Amino acid sequence: MEKLLKNLKNSGVLNSNKVYDAMKQVDRGDFTPYNAYDDSPQSISFNATISAPHMHCHALQYLEPYLTQGAHVLDVGSGSGYLTVALSKMINDSGIIVGIEHIKELYEFGKKNISKNHKNLLDSKKIILVNEDGRKGFKTYAPYKVIHVGAAADEVPKELIEQLDRNGRMFIPVGSYDQWIKVIDKDSNGKISEKKIMGVRYVPLTSKEKQLKGY
Ligand code: SAH
Repeated sequence: MEKLLKNLKNSGVLNSNKVYDAMKQVDRGDFTPYNAYDDSPQSISFNATISAPHMHCHALQYLEPYLTQGAHVLDVGSGSGYLTVALSKMINDSGIIVGIEHIKELYEFGKKNISKNHKNLLDSKKIILVNEDGRKGFKTYAPYKVIHVGAAADEVPKELIEQLDRNGRMFIPVGSYDQWIKVIDKDSNGKISEKKIMGVRYVPLTSKEKQLKGY
């Protein structure tokens, strides 16, 4: 893991010590059996992937200023569970990270992976995994200071905008063939502003049925 992070540093992607420390505490080998220390996405079955480490790194760096002590965080499409744990490490396990995954088997996979070395976070409910449609968000712990979406939406779901806290930030891939990361901020008056950050390739944020059919 350390070598992977050093490479991300040398290539100029990783430039935050806090993100370095958070990712170092989460061994990617617990979350994928394949080429865990390569900087590439890997299949986790069910037409889903664990994102490449450089994408996890970009996400954490864009979200870092908003990841404050005690924050409520929503991770939509939590999949392998890697980023869900890394988000918790960014706030020294001081808040609540809700991971939503709609495929039952992937929800179980994420839970199993997290349990290997971070079971305490599940037991203490600092990480809460739910097996539901993430496009609707998760009201119980809303509003969220940070919302990370790990799959590409055609349009930003309005429930997610509603559940974003004031002075909060969402990181979300948007689009179908031509995809972009959008960073969406809600200011102290509830006003929304957004920026297109970079072109990307994510699996779609869709229904269970479409995903299992191969889209
Ligand atoms: N952050 C995860 C990304 C996994 S890929 C990781 O790095 O491991 C995207 C995930 O989003 C998949 O697990 C997929 O099953 C899930 N997904 C897609 N549409 C969804 C929806 N509507 N609700 C919840 N999860 C969804």
